[in-house]
Amino acid sequence: MNIKPKKSLGQNFLKTKEILDIVIQTANIKDKDIVLEIGPGKGALTEKLLEKAKEVIVVEKDNRLIEFLNEKFESDVKTKKLKIIEGDILDIDICEVLDTLQYKVVANIPYYITGQIIKKFLSEEKQPSDIVLMVQKEVAERIVDKPESILSLSVKVYGTPKYIKTVKAKHFSPQPKVDSAILLIKNISKNVFIENNIKENDFFDLVKAGFSHKRKYLLNNLETNWILMNKNKEKLKDILEKSDISLKIRAENLSLEDWINILKHNF
Ligand code: SAM
Repeated sequence: MNIKPKKSLGQNFLKTKEILDIVIQTANIKDKDIVLEIGPGKGALTEKLLEKAKEVIVVEKDNRLIEFLNEKFESDVKTKKLKIIEGDILDIDICEVLDTLQYKVVANIPYYITGQIIKKFLSEEKQPSDIVLMVQKEVAERIVDKPESILSLSVKVYGTPKYIKTVKAKHFSPQPKVDSAILLIKNISKNVFIENNIKENDFFDLVKAGFSHKRKYLLNNLETNWILMNKNKEKLKDILEKSDISLKIRAENLSLEDWINILKHNF
């Protein structure tokens, strides 16, 4: 079946076996594992996942590929080792398609929804234990490297990100304009919120306020943009001092622990 790749759906298919093998190794799949793959495309990664996992669930938006996948993996579909779901991953209710609490996400995702995919799975009620994603190289660097950003903190508050390997554009067909990277996010949980008795929304409100003007000091950003119980500069200074945070620091130089400390002292 000749399927013309759709740019609008981020269709850049992985064509190098060695890269597929590294993705699989990174995911460290055991024979009891249930894996969710976003955007299986023509099934290059799906095929490898099926060799290792107990069960694979794939969600694909392009109905031309659904037909292709059903033909290619006919026997795995019959034995229910593979479940093919047609739909948009952002609209899928994970609790409905997965009847397990323990699963991994492994995918070469469409880059136009990278941020939304990461957000969906990290904040999901049923979070995966690990996520292995092919993402744009710069995105992986921004998540892992310092200085911190809203994106890096939004990942680190749920899990531990690791930059695994740069993947050159030549390993995809059609070849994209940018290089990619394999990103692993492991030990995913909501423990930071639970252990520190902090609400997820409060954390994100604080971080967004802190980063609202990049050049300004944290103190000034929080004074104008953060909803405090008794909002005034003196109270804010007090919170920062108690949290051992300089009054002349910018948001990008705070660690995850610093943000948590601010919330813990905000009462
Ligand atoms: N996994 C395949 C591979 O490695 O060769 C294909 C990867 S390609 C970068 C991204 C895939 O995601 C395409 O098959 C595309 O149709 C699919 N896709 C795009 N948007 C999607 C969405 N919102 N939900 C689910 N799948 C989507």
